[in-house]
Amino acid sequence: MHIIRKKITVQGQVQGIGFRPFVYRLAAELNLTGFVYNYTEGVTIEIQGNEDNIEKFIDRLKQGGRKKPLLKITSMNITEIVPIIDERSFEIRQSATIGTVSAEVTADIATCKDCLAELFDKNDFRYRYPFINCTNCGPRYSIIRSIPYDRPNTTMSGFSMCSKCKKQYENVEDRRFHAQPAACPVCGPKIKLCEKAGGEIEGDSDKAVWETVRLLLAGKIIAIKGLGGFHLACDGENDEAVKTLRLRKMRDYKPFAMMAADVDKIRQFAHVDKTAACLLQSSQTPIVLLAKKEPNTIAPSAAEGVNTFGFMLPYMPLHHLIFSQEIDGRKLNALVMTSGNIADEPLICKDSIAFEKLSAVADTFLIHDREIYRQVDDSVMHIIQNEPVQIRRARGFVPQAFVLKICAPVDIFAAGADLKNTFCFAKQNRLILSEHIGDMADASVYKHWLYSIEHLKSLFEVNPSVVACDMHPNYLSSQYARKLKKDRLIEIQHHWAHIASVLAEHAIDEKVIGIVADGTGYGSDGAIWGCECLIASLDGFQRFGHLSYWPLAGGDLAAKEAIRPITGLMKKYNLSISDAVLDGIEPDREKRDAIEQQIEKNINAVSTSSLGRLFDAVSALCGLGNYNHFEAQLPMTLEAIADYKTHRSYDFELKNENGVVTIDIGVMLEKIVEDRTSGADEGVISAKFHNTAAEFFLALSKQAREQTGIKTVAISGGVFCNRFLLERLIELLQNDGFNVLFNKLVPTNDGGISLGQAAIAAKAIKKG
Ligand SMILES: [Zn+2]
Ligand SMILES: [Zn+2]
Repeated sequence: MHIIRKKITVQGQVQGIGFRPFVYRLAAELNLTGFVYNYTEGVTIEIQGNEDNIEKFIDRLKQGGRKKPLLKITSMNITEIVPIIDERSFEIRQSATIGTVSAEVTADIATCKDCLAELFDKNDFRYRYPFINCTNCGPRYSIIRSIPYDRPNTTMSGFSMCSKCKKQYENVEDRRFHAQPAACPVCGPKIKLCEKAGGEIEGDSDKAVWETVRLLLAGKIIAIKGLGGFHLACDGENDEAVKTLRLRKMRDYKPFAMMAADVDKIRQFAHVDKTAACLLQSSQTPIVLLAKKEPNTIAPSAAEGVNTFGFMLPYMPLHHLIFSQEIDGRKLNALVMTSGNIADEPLICKDSIAFEKLSAVADTFLIHDREIYRQVDDSVMHIIQNEPVQIRRARGFVPQAFVLKICAPVDIFAAGADLKNTFCFAKQNRLILSEHIGDMADASVYKHWLYSIEHLKSLFEVNPSVVACDMHPNYLSSQYARKLKKDRLIEIQHHWAHIASVLAEHAIDEKVIGIVADGTGYGSDGAIWGCECLIASLDGFQRFGHLSYWPLAGGDLAAKEAIRPITGLMKKYNLSISDAVLDGIEPDREKRDAIEQQIEKNINAVSTSSLGRLFDAVSALCGLGNYNHFEAQLPMTLEAIADYKTHRSYDFELKNENGVVTIDIGVMLEKIVEDRTSGADEGVISAKFHNTAAEFFLALSKQAREQTGIKTVAISGGVFCNRFLLERLIELLQNDGFNVLFNKLVPTNDGGISLGQAAIAAKAIKKG
């Protein structure tokens, strides 16, 4: 019999998901000898035996994804090597730390079905154990200090396995074979209920869960330490409790995320279609935005002014225990589960900081002694055209890398934007995007950003010599990038980066028509851009068209008070709006005069094509108020009231100004004011306005196609978090024969910027 030996290196998402046991079983079945080990770039296998069986082995390795849903092989390198005489077995060897690090650390994974069954099985030795997990589920990214992903490199290093756990860990036939965080009530982490000062109230696991649920049902607020950080939890059906939480957390209006026991429960409060049900139950368990059902029993102050609830399912065994706990015939139907932080500060993951900062918010703390090494927020998604789309990319997805078609010759750091920051590293052909970091305006977020850059740099052993950032002169992220003084600094226009993020996630590198709908982005001419049509590729861009410039006064306040964009638009289009209407928006006439003066004298005023600010203005004209208490509050309310059945729109004009197409919306604004004064339905006005925006984007795209022959449109920008607008535009474009690409895997808002920056930079250095 002819014996051969092959060396196979496998890269991709191959560590921490039971890949080595899978390989072991395969080798055993096919009578092959050799070994397998994790190395820093992936997994190495040496396999020996008869040629036929080795071919079968390789085939089944490639098909492995069917049996192991988390397995994602991105590359496989096979070379024939000299056979070893007298090799008798196949073994799993200790991890080797050689080569450069680019192995993909896996994301945290929600409790699997098998573990859940054991959790509620009285005969299992992990019955009701809040940290049950296996190779198919449990913490990964949030507990890893360094790679390779082995127990000593995680925050589980301090827990030594008992004999029962160890037996499973060492048994290849067991689901917990090499499950790094495997533990049980005897040897693993424990929960306890504590008072604000940190003193223990209840140390027994079951009693702590019972007491937590009792307190929640009684309207108390509990800080619960979870997988990637603390949550602040309260009964989602108790309006008093929710109001108290708002007050204490200093969060006035922004909707709270919620959790319910299962999809059927969520269906009592919101519409859940097939796609949504799948997404909710996926191993990533993101928060999914779902259309509200009316009437419902959720506390009114949980999500006011929007037509959606953000729901997620339990993803930790502890969550399942809480929802299954019955007290005097009552169970929790829905929990508000908002990030454990104050206002816009970073998510808290350390016990000591939680006690320090959250004691003014939470009545009681449910904590545990498994350290969270990296804080990871819950991901937020919604559904566009029956497909899951990211809004906030974090737990469950990070740090899964994106694969580029080109290979960057040196490592790259992309700083991202100042709002909804994420940053990104490019290493060879991988783009490693950080989780959602937050808004840099908060000093503690900035500090966390700096720390995170260093941590991920060392975790992935990236050593960037090229830095990419936004061309904005005052972004903190850009100022930091400029100070790094690396070999090369690449400053990138904001909206070009948005379009590049679409190209990067779809792994295409060609010229497209880029449609951007955004709040604010620094333009190459110094104006504030935000409603753009670009002819763009990863190599460069050309501005094809935009919303005609109008003056906007007030710096930071311009994005808060709708009266500012309204005043600017009145000026630009000679619009007359009655004092009665204006009084309804901003009753302080002196203030209105002052804003007008600012614009006339050009003090603290800019030229803008911002679509976000136009949405603010139209919202206020529809009587929805003058103030964004949180980002995009007014536009979200405008979307919430839009009448889906209305397909009519307003007129607009495309003009040619200095070789660029501009959109003139004077007529539209006049008609909106007219409609409003004559008492037309706000929902219809809102829909007509949304439709108009979709139509002028279509008109721009058609002109661009005529001139360039390009048939692919890439859509991005924060305003496209607006589902009404995005779906209408996609429909119009597709009906007109365009190939339409939009962000799905990364947020369309500024959370996707760093991915685009990294892709542009990789292309730039590849070209030299
Ligand atoms: Zn499991
Ligand atoms: Zn144990």
